Amino acid sequence: MKIKFAKPFFSNVEIAKLNKVAKQDILVHGNEVKNFEKNFSHFTDSKYSLATSSCTTALFMAYNFYNLKKNDEVIVPAQTHVATVQPIVFFGAKPVFIDSNIETGNIDENLIESKINKKTKGISIVHFLGYPANISKIKKICKKYKLFLIEDCALALGAKYKNQHVGTFGDFGCFSFYPVKHITTSEGGMLLTQNDSKNIYAKNFRALGVNREFHSRKIPGQYDVKSMGLNFRLNEFSSAIGNVQLKKINNILNLRKKNFNYLYEKIKKLNKFKLFNYEKDYTNSFYCLSIILPKTISRINLIKYLNSNNIQTSIYYPSIIPNFTYYKKMFNIDHKLYPNAHEISSRSIALPVGPHLNLKDMEYIYNTIKKYFN
Ligand SMILES: *Cc1c(COP(=O)(O)O)cnc(C)c1O
Repeated sequence: MKIKFAKPFFSNVEIAKLNKVAKQDILVHGNEVKNFEKNFSHFTDSKYSLATSSCTTALFMAYNFYNLKKNDEVIVPAQTHVATVQPIVFFGAKPVFIDSNIETGNIDENLIESKINKKTKGISIVHFLGYPANISKIKKICKKYKLFLIEDCALALGAKYKNQHVGTFGDFGCFSFYPVKHITTSEGGMLLTQNDSKNIYAKNFRALGVNREFHSRKIPGQYDVKSMGLNFRLNEFSSAIGNVQLKKINNILNLRKKNFNYLYEKIKKLNKFKLFNYEKDYTNSFYCLSIILPKTISRINLIKYLNSNNIQTSIYYPSIIPNFTYYKKMFNIDHKLYPNAHEISSRSIALPVGPHLNLKDMEYIYNTIKKYFN
């Protein structure tokens, strides 16, 4: 495939860093992870950042803070990655799905309040494809009903809402460094919080509830367990790559923006697809360009055509959550309740705009799509 949907944006610097880490005897609990957290806090202007083994484990820790139980409810977008929702079900609570705003793909904030009742404990939002959800409105709802707010920022590194980085508005913000995301550490994630006690909770939980960090044990093996915890740490290799990647983030975001804007304008003029409307004064981190096909165009045929022309595409996300088998069996919810989310998941194609591509590639993608209609 000539044009890949995503590709790790690595150079020799990442490789040299890996070599360096391999030669030291500290592979966890070292300076690379400490620096990665410090650098991440600096970039996002967050009070605390804790590196985790994935975004999923960051989300797990965020939900776990609230002791979710049977009959508790958490409001979530119907159209998201399953990782946003799985921990809620794992803890025995019930996800309450909300349809998307068809203009942006984000959770439709106007539909949230009607779903709130005595059982509602919190709201999770996902900044869909790097475009911030309407945070002021959602925060107001959280305040009014005393609900927690978790931000899933897996596709939104670099995204800002009114000049403040996403992930710093909620009680917790969760980021992913999975290979296709804005920066990668192979597997990896980050949990943000602005609150001292939430930070202490997560720090302890991430390290098995052990009361003393490895390097602060005067006598090796001497420690106590003061709370529940699991091992959700990020290792030194991954953190080292993360540090190199983070140095490039502004460049990565600029390249994405350039590619996105170029392709967006061209495809808009083609007048064949519905595009999201990103006109508000928010900073988009341009994860991909999602095009929504009219019913007259077969998605699978267009994907196959693009693939045969060496253009790899993706789908964000291939099903609304209630339509996945596990959720269907458990909750049996009709997808017609989420017409916008269903439209996005069943009829959109995600086109690549990553930093591994340039304007020539965008021109090629555009021309290839245009030819499809001739
Ligand atoms: C990729 C993704 C995740 C999962 O991230 P991992 O690091 O693979 O656990 C969670 N939420 C969203 C919105 C994602 O896109």
